[in-house]
Amino acid sequence: MDVVKKQEILQAYAFRKQWPPYTYREHLCVTPEILKSFVKFLNTENTNRKKMELQPWVTFCDSKCAFCYYPSTMFKRDFVDPYLVALKKELKMYSETTYIKTSEFDEIVLGGGTPSVLSAEQLIDIISFCKQNFNISRDYMIKITGSTHNLDEYKLKKFAECGVLQLDVGVQTFNNNVRRMLAIQDSGEHAEEIIRKARKLGLYVCIDLMYNLPGQTLEIWRDDLSRAIALNLEGVDCYPLEIYPGTMLDLQIKNGQIPPPGDWKTEALMYVEAVETFTKAGYIPVGHDRFTRVREHIEESCLNGWPWAGILTTGAGCFMGYLGHYSYQNIENVHEYIDYVSKGIFPIAKIHKSTEEDMIKKVMERLYLRLPVNKGEFKDKFGKFPEEIFPAEVKRLKEKGLIEVTDKEIRLTKLGDVWRINIAWEFANARIA
Ligand code: SF4
Repeated sequence: MDVVKKQEILQAYAFRKQWPPYTYREHLCVTPEILKSFVKFLNTENTNRKKMELQPWVTFCDSKCAFCYYPSTMFKRDFVDPYLVALKKELKMYSETTYIKTSEFDEIVLGGGTPSVLSAEQLIDIISFCKQNFNISRDYMIKITGSTHNLDEYKLKKFAECGVLQLDVGVQTFNNNVRRMLAIQDSGEHAEEIIRKARKLGLYVCIDLMYNLPGQTLEIWRDDLSRAIALNLEGVDCYPLEIYPGTMLDLQIKNGQIPPPGDWKTEALMYVEAVETFTKAGYIPVGHDRFTRVREHIEESCLNGWPWAGILTTGAGCFMGYLGHYSYQNIENVHEYIDYVSKGIFPIAKIHKSTEEDMIKKVMERLYLRLPVNKGEFKDKFGKFPEEIFPAEVKRLKEKGLIEVTDKEIRLTKLGDVWRINIAWEFANARIA
């Protein structure tokens, strides 16, 4: 990367923000009134016809990664059977509502947590249950999230036989020193071996890689990128490290046991390194953090339908649910979760109903997802063009070379791609004209 380009990248903003707006972190705790209105909404028809994602959540992990701030529960065999009974009951409760009966799903995604801590038979049973109880489209995809230390050839074969398309694996880094700092259980070499086996069986593999990790030099990051490319993966999700208060990593850095990560400039330049490396290798940036070389990732309905499609998520601690104008997160504690479901109550902990203003801003968040904002569709929905609603933001971002505005659409420039999170926050914080 030449010096001029580096300067141009680093001058766009004075700080690189984290996470996009409109995540579960900002949702309010559920109240009886909003739960009642959510249940009422579930008894209306889904008229938007966009295909959705069905996401049964396996909350268990058999270890805790040092950086992890996601809700998960330490795996205990005794918890599994009652949990799976509750998970199916919750799925059934949704499947019997009018909204879900009139919805179509083209993805079944076993998320978590680490679903791969369960046996292949238990996971296949959840998939079969989903297929029996929901309208699954002909061209559906099944994805399973896992960790390489609890995946083996037997499980992989079973997944391939039952039609699983993709394994989503949290590799984070192949470097063994950094993996140890993150409390990841197996070696980078073992992760590579499992991924090769999965791909040999015909499964797609999409991995998470994290950048700006403690001890991760640019050289280590470049090695991570080239090892990912050598595996010929279908997709790689590159996330910047976010140190969340109270995590093991946060405490270890504060205690001086682990070095702090680099600053935001290092983070931005590591991202640019990933863009250049993957683009050269024929990958396309897609969605919020992915580089892909397969059609399925580019055409994903749930992504392209944002914010009008939907994700039905279920299970303790799941947090990415959005149905209609409602976004929700479930209760994290497994026992409480089981208790609520056994009483026939939707086990929701936090929920937010988007206002018209939120929806206008969420459409602008398509830029964060590297999707264009179609100006005609925007005007049909909201009565004005984006430039009329966000005159100052559109003007500023255009002048900074972060977006391009044509007669038809607004889209990110290459420079804007580096600053997608900041751009999303600009629209989220804007005062609507
Ligand atoms: S496997 Fe995933 S959910 Fe489990 S501790 Fe690690 S990062 Fe968190």
